[in-house]
Amino acid sequence: MGVGAPALLWLMVTLLLGLLVLLLPGRLAAAMPSGEPSMRVLEDAGQRLDARQALASSGWTALPAGTPSLGYSDSAWWFDLRWEPAPAGERWSQLELAYPVLDAIEVTLLDRTGTARARWSLGDKLPFDARPVAHRHFVVPLPEAAPGEEVVRALVRVHTTSAVQLPARLWTAPAFLASVQADHLLQGIYLGVMLGMLAYNFFLWRVMRERVYLWYVLWVAAIASFQASIGGLAFQYLWPEATWWNDRAIVVFLAMAVASASFFMIDFLELGRLGGWMLRLPRATAWGCMGALLGAFALPYAQAIHLAIVCAVVAMCGALWVSAMRWRQGFAPARIFLLAWCLVLVGGLVLAASKFGLLPRNMLTEHATQVGTALEVILLSLSLAGRLQHERRLRERAQAEAMATQRRANERLEQRVAERTRDLEQLNRRLEQASRTDALTGVANRRHFDERHAGAVQRALARGRPLGVLLLDLDHFKRINDTLGHPAGDDCLREVARRAALLLADEDGALLARYGGEEFIALLPDLPVPEALARAERLREAIAQQPVDSVAGPVSVTASLGLCCRVPQDVADGIAMLREADEALYQAKRSGRNRVTIDLTTAAASAS
Ligand code: GH3
Ligand code: MG
Ligand code: MG
Repeated sequence: MGVGAPALLWLMVTLLLGLLVLLLPGRLAAAMPSGEPSMRVLEDAGQRLDARQALASSGWTALPAGTPSLGYSDSAWWFDLRWEPAPAGERWSQLELAYPVLDAIEVTLLDRTGTARARWSLGDKLPFDARPVAHRHFVVPLPEAAPGEEVVRALVRVHTTSAVQLPARLWTAPAFLASVQADHLLQGIYLGVMLGMLAYNFFLWRVMRERVYLWYVLWVAAIASFQASIGGLAFQYLWPEATWWNDRAIVVFLAMAVASASFFMIDFLELGRLGGWMLRLPRATAWGCMGALLGAFALPYAQAIHLAIVCAVVAMCGALWVSAMRWRQGFAPARIFLLAWCLVLVGGLVLAASKFGLLPRNMLTEHATQVGTALEVILLSLSLAGRLQHERRLRERAQAEAMATQRRANERLEQRVAERTRDLEQLNRRLEQASRTDALTGVANRRHFDERHAGAVQRALARGRPLGVLLLDLDHFKRINDTLGHPAGDDCLREVARRAALLLADEDGALLARYGGEEFIALLPDLPVPEALARAERLREAIAQQPVDSVAGPVSVTASLGLCCRVPQDVADGIAMLREADEALYQAKRSGRNRVTIDLTTAAASAS
């Protein structure tokens, strides 16, 4: 609906404007090929005069051009209409009295000599079918006559509870036909637009369930019904017999229109939250209209319509004032609302101006209120659609914000998880490192050695390559501890580890570990016995060569080493090699220390 609705509206607006642009300047604003009679008027306050007495009266007043508008009164009014003959070759065939709410009209058609040629009783107190011409206005046919006997004058007596107005016009037959067609076309367009807007916004209400749409629908229905009633169209087509209702319909629809417009304004301009006069005024007019609505059935027509009109005028002024105030408060939709009501006002003013002769009477000025209300209704509907869009945009923005917040939270969470994971991994690495390392010397510890030893045996087995196991034990270390103190002993252990590590750093896959108290062990993969032996010798020398710089001064340290080097036969043999290296070390101790000894199998291999 979001895409379809405004598009549909724009289509309707374009069509309507297209029609208006095509029709209005060319046809409607053109002076109508009709004649206007000159008029004088006589007030018959007691309603006692007959036609002869009226004509004889001296109280006649000439009326200026334009539609006479004499307001509401109890009097009967006599109008004396005279006209010039039609242009050459033509004949006036109809006299139209274009105010369809007059109650009772007596028309006497007179010729040049003052002889009555025809008499008609009209007015909306008679059923529609009593009219001589089926037209929403009162139309009297002018009889054909021999030269000199043509009707050139009409005496019209009007008695009505409505306002007394008599827009009178003479038509030639073709012009009358054309005017009827143009009028029906315009009424059709008007009602079509109103019906379209009504249906469209009714469906919007069904979907949105927002009261403002319902008020709009009611307003459109009421104003269209009011126009149809006051224009005589409803009487012609909807209730041609219901003369009692016809008067009341005007009050009822006007009151409904003003009330629903007031309620619509309250919702549209969101006055409910504001309170104060801006809310009280439309409420008051709305309730006043409810009074007028009831009054339509209880009060005389004149009083009920007066009440409704007062409410309408107050509501109109109020609408302009309130929407201007709301606009000043920065409520954007108020601008369109103000413009819409200005259109209605302009329509009303144009109609009034044409009635007072300030503007020419033509199709455009006669239908000004309809044009005004139609444009207003379209504009407000557009604005309502705009509201939809505005609300959707707000909703989308809120959703987007919620999603962005969610995303940011997720990102923060993920970031924190990543940080924690990194910290944990680091900690794990450090723990693992620590679990593999000897705290005092920084070389691998026994546990790590055992793991690596198993792997090294497997590899040597798989490749058929030799593996050297070198066990190193410091000589008379207990003595060093005893004479120089434990810290000096520690220094010696650290330094021996450092020198051994330095020496073995170049060996591929070699591993140095602290095996126990003052015992170290090294794995020397892939070295033949002589080279392994050479490494062991170099290691011994590196330790013995230079005294260790300890906290207790330089200490001479020596170490005994036992080597076992061969291709292991199986896993068990790999373990046996450790024992054999230990035996070799024991041998070295016994042989006087500070030396390298190899075990028996290694010796055999090196000899061969
Ligand atoms: P030998 O030449 O026969 O190996 O004599 P030795 O004194 O080195 O042998 P013994 O195994 O009797 O003594 C080892 C000494 O090493 C005992 C212990 O006090 C010392 N020791 C073991 N671990 C540490 C240590 O972490 N720091 C220090 N300072 N001394 C240690
Ligand atoms: Mg020792
Ligand atoms: Mg020892």
